[in-house]
Amino acid sequence: MLIDFHTHSTASDGALTPGELLARARSQGVRQFAITDHDTVEGYREAVGLLAGSDLQLVPGVELSCQWSGANIHVVGLGMDCDHPAMREGLSILDAARLQRARRIAEVLEKRGFPGALEGAMVEAGGSQLGRPHFARWMVAQGYVSEFPAAFDKYLGRGKAGDVKAFWPELKEVVDWIVAAGGVAVVAHPLHYEFTRSKLRRLLADFQAAGGTAMEILSGRQASDQTRHLCRLAAEFGLEVSAGSDFHRDAPYNAPIGVTLRDSDDLPAVWRRWQPEQETA
Ligand code: MN
Ligand code: MN
Ligand code: MN
Repeated sequence: MLIDFHTHSTASDGALTPGELLARARSQGVRQFAITDHDTVEGYREAVGLLAGSDLQLVPGVELSCQWSGANIHVVGLGMDCDHPAMREGLSILDAARLQRARRIAEVLEKRGFPGALEGAMVEAGGSQLGRPHFARWMVAQGYVSEFPAAFDKYLGRGKAGDVKAFWPELKEVVDWIVAAGGVAVVAHPLHYEFTRSKLRRLLADFQAAGGTAMEILSGRQASDQTRHLCRLAAEFGLEVSAGSDFHRDAPYNAPIGVTLRDSDDLPAVWRRWQPEQETA
């Protein structure tokens, strides 16, 4: 069965509108699906209104930014009540953090001779969650860099001046919001952080102590030995497993929407929580 519990729409930094994303998932034959935009559930909300007559099961989703041990960590929330006061409060805290961070990024860029970055990035973002990709697009549009990846390589990527993360809440806080709202907290793309094995285990232990109960064992294109490694970690920690494409846009090197899992059959999967009755028997 094809599933996908990690995708992005135009509500954050994805290229497809929520409606286009739904249509794509259906045409690929995905059965269970979540839109997990960065720090906003607006993409999910829009999609709910477009579901009529579909047998696609849409689970509420979000990808929350936080910090742990000096690193920027992403926690996916699935199945939560988006209107729960804790979730609403959390999203507004993240909104404020994102704007503060954007101001700081703009300051950094101005010091390097790129004035007007905040306004420019806001225009690029339109109504969606303001993030580094919008700064990158603005820099390309202004001719400050030749292409999008160069903006990250030189100014915005990990370890560069514009990689500002100090404003994100702590891991424990964002896990609390998801759990309080009745959702499952999932460590997103655990290998993406490039931690040592022992640091990754510390992250999982702290995450679990904070009330987190699941981790992704598959994120987009991934070597099968990595998936097996993550399956072993999930089993060892007793975490449920989740999986998704982390789809943002069509590109030759990106994973398409919809993933399927073979190695994880013995592991408790988050998606079993939402499986339609007739399929659980
Ligand atoms: Mn993204
Ligand atoms: Mn992420
Ligand atoms: Mn993502």
